[in-house]
Amino acid sequence: LRFDRLRLNGFKSFVDPTDLVIREGLTGVVGPNGCGKSNLLEALRWVMGENRPTAMRGEGMEDVIFAGTTRRSARAHAEVTLTIDNKDRLAPAGMNDSDALDITRRITRDAGSAYRINGKDVRARDVQMLFADASTGAHSPALVRQGQISELINAKPKARRRILEEAAGISGLYQRRHEAELKLNAAEANLTRVDDTLDQLS
Ligand code: ATP
Repeated sequence: LRFDRLRLNGFKSFVDPTDLVIREGLTGVVGPNGCGKSNLLEALRWVMGENRPTAMRGEGMEDVIFAGTTRRSARAHAEVTLTIDNKDRLAPAGMNDSDALDITRRITRDAGSAYRINGKDVRARDVQMLFADASTGAHSPALVRQGQISELINAKPKARRRILEEAAGISGLYQRRHEAELKLNAAEANLTRVDDTLDQLS
């Protein structure tokens, strides 16, 4: 997947609409401590469907909304849009008619998150699957947080295996298998109930 642009609005310290244009080659972000470099990476992970507030250095997901300063009042919502190249037509069926994909996540206080792909409402799962199938995503090993290298060195084999599976591009398949298993269990429970009813009738 090629990322073209990250647009932030009301996300953490980015209270005003801010565009980060990602050109071909290496993009570097430099600035003094506390200016928001890590917030940019968190925005990227967040728009791809990250659901753990701790991964956003917060207690609740609403902590990503600009909380206000002495001079500016807090925002009621935060929005991040990631524009990716779609020349290879990676988008879910029905959304594949353009060369670029805008993936938007918006969170409103007390109302939670909503996702859109090219303006159409989608589920969190659709966005997560899109990135899982493309071997990137909120948990992608391509995104390296501060302190993560030492975590990797000290990781247990199971955690290391997950990283390798993600790199191999099969984590989307695991998610689908898990969902299929849940459906199968529900179907089996239904069958048992039908059997019970039949027993009672005979
Ligand atoms: P470092 O180099 O120290 O890691 P950094 O450039 O990566 O710094 P960040 O950690 O991304 O900086 O940014 C931290 C800044 O973001 C802090 O000033 C913090 O007050 C601000 N911030 C975080 N969450 C919010 C929020 N919800 N509302 C307003 N400001 C926020």
